[in-house]
Amino acid sequence: MAGEKRELFIGGESVPTLDGRTTEDLNPFTGEVHAVVAAASPADVTRAVDAAQEAFASWSATSPSVRRGILLRAADDLEARTPEAVKLMAAEVGGVAGWAGFNVMLAAGILREAAAAVTQPVGEVLTTEVPGQLSLAVREPLGVVAAFAPWNAPIILSTRAVAAPIAAGNTVVLKPSEDAPIAAGLFIADVLHEAGLPAGVLNVVTNAPQDAAEVATALITDPRVRAVNFTGSTEVGRIVGTLAAQHLKPAVLELGGKNSLLVLDDADLDHAVNAATFGSFLNAGQICMSTDRILVHRAVAEEFTAKLAAKVSSLPHGDPADAGTVIGPVINPRAAQRIAALVGEAVGAGARVRAGGEGAATVLDGVTPDMRIFQEEIFGPAVVVTTVADDDEAVTIANNTEHGLTAGIITEDSRRGFGLAQRIRTGIVHVGNQTVDDEPQAPFGGVKASGYGRFGGRWGIEAFSTTRWVTIAGG
Ligand code: NAD
Repeated sequence: MAGEKRELFIGGESVPTLDGRTTEDLNPFTGEVHAVVAAASPADVTRAVDAAQEAFASWSATSPSVRRGILLRAADDLEARTPEAVKLMAAEVGGVAGWAGFNVMLAAGILREAAAAVTQPVGEVLTTEVPGQLSLAVREPLGVVAAFAPWNAPIILSTRAVAAPIAAGNTVVLKPSEDAPIAAGLFIADVLHEAGLPAGVLNVVTNAPQDAAEVATALITDPRVRAVNFTGSTEVGRIVGTLAAQHLKPAVLELGGKNSLLVLDDADLDHAVNAATFGSFLNAGQICMSTDRILVHRAVAEEFTAKLAAKVSSLPHGDPADAGTVIGPVINPRAAQRIAALVGEAVGAGARVRAGGEGAATVLDGVTPDMRIFQEEIFGPAVVVTTVADDDEAVTIANNTEHGLTAGIITEDSRRGFGLAQRIRTGIVHVGNQTVDDEPQAPFGGVKASGYGRFGGRWGIEAFSTTRWVTIAGG
């Protein structure tokens, strides 16, 4: 895989950029060049939109059974490529084998869910005031969709960004993160293309980091682009959402989280520790749904924290290419410095290190709401434990954030857990389970600064469709 060279993917072909520029993509563990990819300019974006626009008329008219067949074949092909995906994710984003395998499994599920949606009814027959008239509400595709996928769960999130739009009859230009141009972009294009997706239905433009704003702006503002989906940080999501709104384009924004796991005083502590470890440290904590705050009832706080610290300290970390590694590297040195600064500041202000510190998987307690680590998304292998006096305090703290993506409540009492779930302002909540979960048929998305719009199930199809009122006069 080292030094692999990749071009843009436009109109069903690999093509170089118009000006021949390329950019290097580094391996987060070794720091070496993993791939050299095309660095698009706005003129390349225009070419990609040309191809998508050209493909739209025939793709939106392609029979449902053909569309479904392509998506189902792609799901099978993707699974067959699991060993390749494992190698790619280790080299490109530092993902361990289990995480890469989960990426493939969920992405295949997303493709199958999209395939199932293709043959669902596309409208309703309405009542009408006009005698003899047929009045219909008909779902129709929008046109060209601009899609943005991040690096952290690259195969899942690139698949999610394109599957529902394509299933709904749209065509897509996908711009992957500069940290995962292959895993979050070209890889799914390869899979769908080999499964028979016609040329131009999915196009991928990769770019150099310094060109991100220019390339993204060219894509969003191209008048032929009719809708946008963006998965990434709240900071960039605000820019993308503003631009889409200025140009009156609907957008699905899947942004950052600051997710709480509540551990109540009746919790099964072994289950709570497992839920906290999985939720906080899967993919080294680089998941939008990661548990950032554990809010534990005072009565069980010390026992829980001691058990959590012991478990976290035992997690093997190191080279993601080694089969036994659970915690790989974070995505780049900038992220490592940011996380170290968050932890260091908290410790300087009185937080205690219960596990890790210094780059290893970290558990802090004694963290107070005024500390930066309590407010900002950590997006790395660290979690803070805060003791609460009662359920009301836990709810207040869980809601004390601009984000609203997901929450988990660990209790043996479902009724109590459900009552709390109704008071926590998030797009997703799990009673009795960790904050990290995703199923293709479920609505996925946040509230508040975690974004708006939903992927998943029929919600994902509706997000990339419009509803047209059609009447046919009676004879
Ligand atoms: P990011 O926002 O830093 O980068 C996303 C993309 O934005 C990059 O590919 C970059 O090319 C582009 N970009 C940069 N400047 C831009 C500009 N001015 N205009 C338009 N585009 C621009 O996010 P990231 O580091 O790739 O991903 C991590 C973030 O994504 C975390 O905050 C995480 O919580 C979030 N995330 C959310 C979900 C979800 O479903 N809610 C899922 C995964 C990740």
